[in-house]
Amino acid sequence: MAESLPRGPNILITGTPGTGKTTLGQELAGRNNLKYINIGEVAKENDLFEGFDEEYQCPLMDEDRVIDELEDTMVEGGNIVDYHGCEFFPERWFHLVIVLRTDNSILYERLEKRGYSGKKLQDNVQCEIFRTILDEALESYKENIVQELKSNTPEDMEENLEKISTWLNQLNAS
Ligand code: ADP
Repeated sequence: MAESLPRGPNILITGTPGTGKTTLGQELAGRNNLKYINIGEVAKENDLFEGFDEEYQCPLMDEDRVIDELEDTMVEGGNIVDYHGCEFFPERWFHLVIVLRTDNSILYERLEKRGYSGKKLQDNVQCEIFRTILDEALESYKENIVQELKSNTPEDMEENLEKISTWLNQLNAS
C-alpha cells in the first residue's frame, strides 16, 4: 500500500503519564479547531488489544491495529494525538512532536492523587527521571521537530499553548 502524506499538520503530544498531555491536548484542540485523539481511548473504544501484561495487570495495546484505525484520519491532517509513547507511530504522520516534562516531586504528587502507588508510581517517576520518552522521541523523529516543554505549573501550560499555537500557524503557512 502506498504511504500517503498528511494533507494538514498533525501534532503528537507525548510524555510520562501525569505530565499534562490530556489537559494541554484538549485545550489546544479546542482553541485551534483541531481534532483531539487520545490513543488509549481509541484502543478501548475499538477493542484494539492483544493479550495481557501480567506485571502491570493491564491489557496490551495492539499497536498495528491502532495505526490502521487512525491512518485515514491522520492523512486528513489537523489532529492532536495524545499518548505516553511515540516510537510505534509512522514518522510521516507528525509535523511537530511535543514532549512534556515535569519535575519529579510534582509528578509524584500528581500520580499519587490519581491513585497510583507502589511499583506503578515508582516506575512512572523513574521514566521521567531517565527522560525515557524524550530519548524515544529524539530517536524516532527528526530532532528539529521535537520540542521539549516544561509542564509544572498552570503558567507553563499557558505558555505552552501560546508557543504551540504559533508553531501551528507557521506550519499552516508553509
Ligand atoms: P497526562 O494526560 O499526561 O497523564 P493530565 O493532563 O491528565 O496528564 O494531567 C495530570 C494532572 O496534572 C491533572 O490533574 C492536571 O490538571 C494536572 N496538570 C496538567 N498539566 C499541568 C500544569 N502545567 N500545571 C499544573 N497542573 C497540571
